[in-house]
Amino acid sequence: MKTAVITGITGQDGAYLSSFLLNKNYRVIGIVRNASKSNVKNLKYLGASDRITLIEANLLDLSNIIRILDKNKPDEFYNLAAQSSVSLSFEQPIGTLEFNIISVANTLEAIKVVNPKIKYYQASSSEMFGKVKKESLPVKEDFVFYPVSPYGISKAAAHWLVVNNREGYRLFAVCGILFNHESVLRGSSFVTKKILNTAVKIKMGLLNKLELGNVKIYRDWGYSPKYVEAMWLMLQQEFPKDYVICSGEAHSLEEFVQKVFEKLGLALEDHVVLDTGLHRPVELEKIYGDNAEAKRALGWNYDMSFDRLIETLIKDEIQYIDYESKLNQI
Ligand code: NAP
Repeated sequence: MKTAVITGITGQDGAYLSSFLLNKNYRVIGIVRNASKSNVKNLKYLGASDRITLIEANLLDLSNIIRILDKNKPDEFYNLAAQSSVSLSFEQPIGTLEFNIISVANTLEAIKVVNPKIKYYQASSSEMFGKVKKESLPVKEDFVFYPVSPYGISKAAAHWLVVNNREGYRLFAVCGILFNHESVLRGSSFVTKKILNTAVKIKMGLLNKLELGNVKIYRDWGYSPKYVEAMWLMLQQEFPKDYVICSGEAHSLEEFVQKVFEKLGLALEDHVVLDTGLHRPVELEKIYGDNAEAKRALGWNYDMSFDRLIETLIKDEIQYIDYESKLNQI
């Protein structure tokens, strides 16, 4: 039985990855910042909370990580913990840089000290590419970084720490450069979750208005449960290498909202309010990636169209709202 340590296990990807690895018969250990206060609702929803071990640790404290690795002897380490919101990174630039960079440096250092054979996955992001000229799209693995947010800058620094450790110390350390991926477990501050949750509640007569910022941005959206499979595949390869994980299509946020409302039979103009106060200081206008290398080398099979993604997200959101309301009645 292999052992995997996952940081950020309480988040969207952490929960889906746990569930995926448990199905592959892994022993799964999750690192959380505060075991007594940790929000395990995502893990509970997927039926994974009773099958994993949670360990409290401060990823900014190297000695703490060394002890955990020494004691639990993992084969694989998935580093998903991060201040993951682009918007929040403009409000908390220093905290974002500090955590998103130092936690990566620490976990890599700990692996070098305890066991350099532990395979390491880092959650890199398409936000590292940032400002990309339209004629250069789609983005591939070797593209230059021009991040436009403290979040993107922090992820770019963390990315290079991984590459540097791989090249300098021959660690099996890789970065998955993931484009936006969504699910019902997406945090409530993310725009896609806000759209889906509000739209379904409008349909149910529970809410009436949806406030949005800039809807003219184009993103490459995918489905989280399928993206975590690529993380695992990257650690099963003979040689460590970074991959772009994306759907390969760009759609505007406007189109995202329109499709959700259309599929729910709602009229946009009756409910959606645009608010320039919600715009970011700097915005990445259009970005999408090329997943050919991930499909070819990893055998990652992603074929979910944008239409099917929206249908799946709506269906999942309806089920989730039903689950939550039943929980609240208990
Ligand atoms: P998420 O739902 O926001 O989860 C973030 C996780 O990080 C949570 O478990 C959170 O723990 C933990 N965390 C945050 N700050 C922490 C801190 N100071 N100390 C310890 N733990 C902390 O994010 P996600 O969508 O699953 O994304 C997983 C990773 O992929 C992140 O690194 C994200 O930046 C990256 N990524 C995501 C996307 C995407 O579209 N989802 C795309 C590219 C890259 P708490 O429960 O304690 O808050």
